[in-house]
Amino acid sequence: MEYIAREELEKLQFLRLKETLRRVYKSSPFYKRLFKENGLKPLNFKSLKDLPQIPFTTREDLRKNFPYGFLTLPLNRIVRLHTSTGTTGKPKAIFFSKKDIENSAGLIARSMKMTGAKDKDVFQNMMSYGLFTGGLIFHYGAEKLGLLVIPAGAGNTERQIELMMDFKTTIIHITPSYALYLADILEEKGINPRKNLNLRMAYLGAEPYSESTRQKIEQIFNIKAFNSYGLSEMNGPGVAFECQFKEGMHLWEDNFILEIIEPSTGKVLPDGEEGEIVLTSINREAMPILRYRTGDIAFVYPDKCQCGRTHRRISRIKGRVDDMFIIRGVNVFPSEVERILMSLSEVGRNYQIILEREKSLDVMRVKVEIKKELFDGSLEHLRGLEEKIKAKLKSELMLTPKVELVEPATLPRTTGKAKRVIDKREI
Ligand code: AMP
Ligand code: ZN
Repeated sequence: MEYIAREELEKLQFLRLKETLRRVYKSSPFYKRLFKENGLKPLNFKSLKDLPQIPFTTREDLRKNFPYGFLTLPLNRIVRLHTSTGTTGKPKAIFFSKKDIENSAGLIARSMKMTGAKDKDVFQNMMSYGLFTGGLIFHYGAEKLGLLVIPAGAGNTERQIELMMDFKTTIIHITPSYALYLADILEEKGINPRKNLNLRMAYLGAEPYSESTRQKIEQIFNIKAFNSYGLSEMNGPGVAFECQFKEGMHLWEDNFILEIIEPSTGKVLPDGEEGEIVLTSINREAMPILRYRTGDIAFVYPDKCQCGRTHRRISRIKGRVDDMFIIRGVNVFPSEVERILMSLSEVGRNYQIILEREKSLDVMRVKVEIKKELFDGSLEHLRGLEEKIKAKLKSELMLTPKVELVEPATLPRTTGKAKRVIDKREI
């Protein structure tokens, strides 16, 4: 399936799309209504090109139809609930049938195998277990591939380290921010991650991060780190994953139809152009979602991957449409700030962006942890570095920030998804 000819892949996509349309038209309360309102009938879809006739589905639609409004199966056929990490209001509830669980495990197993995971590997899943998909969904996939799975969950870092050492963990699944935190704790304990651990790979996902952060993590642990993308609404993890070439993530197009749109107009963009990822699940039973606006910004690589897999690759996620902040008219993605900071060798492992208003001017203040080796009990000797960071941010972002250096390992750390931006401005 990974190497299927494009033509065959598109045929399969259309078959599965039609099946999905029939399913939702018959049984999903939300889509029944949507199809009626828009005069749509599954029979009228003649090719993949007809897909854009269907209006987008948004997070708001999921919220408004919470909890069961998208289901196409009765509850006796539903076996699992997950929710998406929402910061405000009701979470989004996502349901799985037995077949959906089996299928999502297959997508993870396929993704892990692609990176070179073997059944003799010891896999420590350091993502939160429970409602978040990063725990259980990944767990089932790793088991399916036959690895020894340690369901460590997130947090309790001392215990994580003990598990890694006792069982000689070779692969971890972790958020990039937690990986850096873990590195700090290892350092504090005098454990050398390159020598005293047996790690060879990490799967990093669940939040945006830069290429330099990946490299930093690879260097600290002496491992290969692969980018893993997914969202609860579609499957959880296992939607797109990097192969050994680590240039974009193959999006499993036998399970999802991929579109990139311009967020403001909804116009579908050609490969190579950056926009919002829109996904249609075409291989789900309990709760298929059509043309879902993920809010995630990326582009599709227009060329073929060297590995020969035919599923198209999406770029690293730049951020979310709603992550972007505007300061003095400049649009800024936190991931851009991260990329610039992490490209400087003097910078440590953590940073924070604070947006505030001084008199009537908006100011971006960036707190930056410095590298441990540079800290000698004071920050006085580092004024030059402060200026250097400021100049670099200014030249790349076209915006003059305030830069504040702080001691290593002093900014708030997280074992899950990081919160990078604190907006103190009043509207
Ligand atoms: P959740 O549904 O709670 O698992 O959150 C899914 C969201 O996490 C996605 O829509 C993305 O915004 C973000 N996310 C997941 N994986 C990645 C990744 N590899 N890079 C950047 N953001 C990611
Ligand atoms: Zn590839």
